[in-house]
Amino acid sequence: PIILSIESSCDDTSAAVLKGRQLLSNITANQSVHKAYGGVVPELASRAHQQNIIPVVEQAIKEANIKKEDITAVAFTRGPGLLGSLLVGASFAKSFAMARKIPLIEVNHMQGHILAHFIEDQNNLPKPSFPFLCLTVSGGHTQIVKVDSPYEFEIIGQTIDDAAGEAFDKISKIIGLPYPGGPLMDKFAKEGNPKAFAFTHPKVGAFDFSFSGLKTGVLYFLQKEIKKNPDFVKDNLADICASVQHTIVSILLKTYKKAAKNTGIKQLAIAGGVSANSELRKRLKEMETNYGYETYIPPMSYCTDNAAMIGIAGFFKFKNKDFAPYTISPMARMSVAN
Ligand code: ATP
Ligand code: FE
Repeated sequence: PIILSIESSCDDTSAAVLKGRQLLSNITANQSVHKAYGGVVPELASRAHQQNIIPVVEQAIKEANIKKEDITAVAFTRGPGLLGSLLVGASFAKSFAMARKIPLIEVNHMQGHILAHFIEDQNNLPKPSFPFLCLTVSGGHTQIVKVDSPYEFEIIGQTIDDAAGEAFDKISKIIGLPYPGGPLMDKFAKEGNPKAFAFTHPKVGAFDFSFSGLKTGVLYFLQKEIKKNPDFVKDNLADICASVQHTIVSILLKTYKKAAKNTGIKQLAIAGGVSANSELRKRLKEMETNYGYETYIPPMSYCTDNAAMIGIAGFFKFKNKDFAPYTISPMARMSVAN
């Protein structure tokens, strides 16, 4: 099948075309309007999606070198995400499918992040086989998922408060970096010493995470240091970034290792926006040589939100003839385990 897919759950409008598992195009329009507000403003996101959706879809079709008539089915993100944002993608997908009388496929965004590992492209990366574990680390989620098939997902552990991406962004905001701070913290950390400052790890259930304590810990630490040296952040930016990043990645991997040991599963994948983090990628890879795991790290283009991942999840549902009615509504809250 040739599947057109739409992703609009947060602040990126994206459309992709897949032929089977093969990616033909993947176009994303980022929204810069939110920068001035230090975070995503839902109403502005929804309006920007309305402006972007048609040009983004047209570009995806053009780059895939296909005609509208060639499209077999339309897949879209049903949730989780911002309702006003989801509505734009869902309405577009429903209208397109209805007008062309082709099947409509609803996709769970968190399953999309994980299934991105199965996209066929020029990278030709090895694919995980089932069952495997996936550490999904994004702006809204941090969870360890056992993936038994493209249709079966079980949450082994998850964050009890902030997500890892949220921790990166909130701590970046405290030190004065613009939104989203995660990629910038990664950049500045490259010049810093990860052991310069130590922050305590949270005490939570064996396979769970918590990041709100780290955020408060960093805030109090900086307030104390700034009293002694008002330029403390400026003078130590790289070391602060490296130390915070090192703490977040250590918390993530310590828990992931425990889950791997407990389940006996040796195939470990990562997914979501924070899987773009260079320290996380490097230290997960090192676990192959140090502990004998097989690791799966997505290409950068499938880490943060994109429609290619919705297309591949849609492809698996297409194979099962798992189609949605044209009357379907998006849902702001949806678990990866359905
Ligand atoms: P969800 O998927 O949970 O609904 P989302 O779609 O908003 O949330 P993603 O687009 O998957 O989230 O990821 C965005 C997050 O990834 C942001 O918090 C961003 O700071 C973080 N991020 C992106 N690149 C990096 C990086 N190199 N290092 C650390 N964090 C990063
Ligand atoms: Fe996402």
